Amino acid sequence: MKIRVLGAHNTESRETRNITLLVDDILALDAGGLTSSLSFEDQLKLKAVLLTHHHYDHVRDIPALAMNFFLRSRQIDVYSHQVVFDNLAKHFLNGTIYPEYHEKPPGYPILRFQLLEPWKEVAILGYRVKPVLMNHSQPSMGYQVMSPDHKSIFYSGDTGIGLIEVWKQIKPQLLFIEVTGPDKWENSMIEHKHMTPHLLKMELDIFREINRYLPRIYILHTNPASEKEISAELAGVAASLQADILVSYEGMQVEI
Ligand SMILES: [Zn+2]
Ligand SMILES: [Zn+2]
Repeated sequence: MKIRVLGAHNTESRETRNITLLVDDILALDAGGLTSSLSFEDQLKLKAVLLTHHHYDHVRDIPALAMNFFLRSRQIDVYSHQVVFDNLAKHFLNGTIYPEYHEKPPGYPILRFQLLEPWKEVAILGYRVKPVLMNHSQPSMGYQVMSPDHKSIFYSGDTGIGLIEVWKQIKPQLLFIEVTGPDKWENSMIEHKHMTPHLLKMELDIFREINRYLPRIYILHTNPASEKEISAELAGVAASLQADILVSYEGMQVEI
């Protein structure tokens, strides 16, 4: 299983992209930096996109991807929960901002919305995908993705603390999880349901208690202006847990 980090941050600039992972060139997790990171040729290799929630930084490239597929008469599957589809249809693909590519062309919609239920594992492109409910300000699902040869990752999307039920449901080799702000933002991060290094440490303690191990951890969704501070604080967390914690960056590639 090959994972490419296309977008590793919570804000966009020339150097940073909104959050997106790409698995084996065919499966995208979120779409914050999808079209801006891939050539047209590579976009056409995509077979499916899993969306965690409808915040702009996670879904923004869905309309752009739809246009590119439309111009090449190709369809693509988009998996998520109903509230994400409702918001995409209402605010983006509404015939005003952009065409209704989930309905058009008639009988051959470019975006095929596929509904997932939390906690219910499904087969997608040969992977076993388990959606789990995260704790965010909008309804959000994280995904464990397991390849046919039993390599597995978990991608959190955006999440705050309180993940005990999630940890009971997953056993990934690699954990891609968000840490948006530094420890000094803890109150605001709790309020907006994001993580800091200290909050992550508390959640990892619980993970280890339940699962008796810690996976290798890749940090995503960092605020670029706080990255040095976050990295320094995460180094402390890694040392105290004796865990492998790496801060992801655009273009990073991981193989398991
Ligand atoms: Zn969010
Ligand atoms: Zn976000």
